[in-house]
Amino acid sequence: MCNWIVGNWKMNGSLAHVAEFTAALLKGIPANLGAAGTRVAICPPHPYLTAVGERIAGSQVELGAQKVHPLPSGAFTGEVSPVMLSEFGVSVCIIGHSEHRQYFGVTDVIIAQKLHALTAVGIIPILCVGETLVEREADRQKEVIETQLRLAMKDSEEDVRGRQVSDTVLAPHPELSEEAAGKLVIAYEPVWAIGTGQTATPEQANGMHEFIRDILRERYSESLAEAMPILYGGSVNEENAGELLRQPDINGALVGGASLKADAFLSIINQAIK
Ligand code: PEP
Repeated sequence: MCNWIVGNWKMNGSLAHVAEFTAALLKGIPANLGAAGTRVAICPPHPYLTAVGERIAGSQVELGAQKVHPLPSGAFTGEVSPVMLSEFGVSVCIIGHSEHRQYFGVTDVIIAQKLHALTAVGIIPILCVGETLVEREADRQKEVIETQLRLAMKDSEEDVRGRQVSDTVLAPHPELSEEAAGKLVIAYEPVWAIGTGQTATPEQANGMHEFIRDILRERYSESLAEAMPILYGGSVNEENAGELLRQPDINGALVGGASLKADAFLSIINQAIK
C-alpha cells in the first residue's frame, strides 16, 4: 500500500506563494519518494491549479483539488466539474472535508455523488470523515464515523439513519462497488483537531483507523480493507508527524496549515518515507 502526504492549502496562497513554494518543494523533494511507496500531492485553491500544475509537471508531486461538483456540466454557478479538473491534470480531490460539511451544508448524499463522479473520470477521491468535539466528548466518534462512511459508500440514508432523502438535482446514486471503493483514499480528520493545534494522540488516531479498516473489511473484503490508504489529518506538523506516521494503521497525512510552508511540508514528507 502506498503512503500519501497531501497538502490542503484551503483558501490561502497567491501566485507569488505558488512560485516560491513549488521551487522550494521541488528542490527538496526526496529522490526515493516513489521507491519508498510515498505519493505527495498539493491541493491549491482552484485559480492556482494551472500555475501549480505547470510548475510540478514531470515531477513526483501530484496536483490535487479541494472541491468538485458531482455533475459534468450545467447551470451551477461557481462550480467546477470532475471532467474540468481532469483537463487540468488533477489526480486527487478532497471531498467531505468538515469545513464543507459545516459551513456549506454539503451532505453525505452529495459526498456519495462526488465519489462516483470522481472515480468515473479517474480522479482519486480523498474522502474525509471526522467527529466534532461534542461528539467525541459524548463518546460517539465511532458511530459518527461509521455513519459517514456507510452513507458515502451508498447504504442509503434510509438504511443508515432511517430517514428518506429526496434530492431534486442529483440522480440517485448506486451503491459504491468494491472496484470503485478500491480507488479511494480515506482521511480521518477529527474536527476538533483541524486548525486547532490539538492533534489526536497517535493511539487515538490509530484506534480510529483500525475501526475504519474493520468497517471496510465487513462492508467489502479483507483485501480492500488492508489495501486502503487511511490518512490522518488534524494539526499535523513537523514535530508530531513522525510519531503519527509510525502507527501501523496510519498511511499518511492530510496537512492543512503546515502544508503552506515548504520546509515544514518537506519535513513531514521525509518523515513519511523513513
Ligand atoms: C485540513 O485542512 O484538512 C487540516 C487537517 O488542517 P490542519 O492541518 O491545519 O489542522
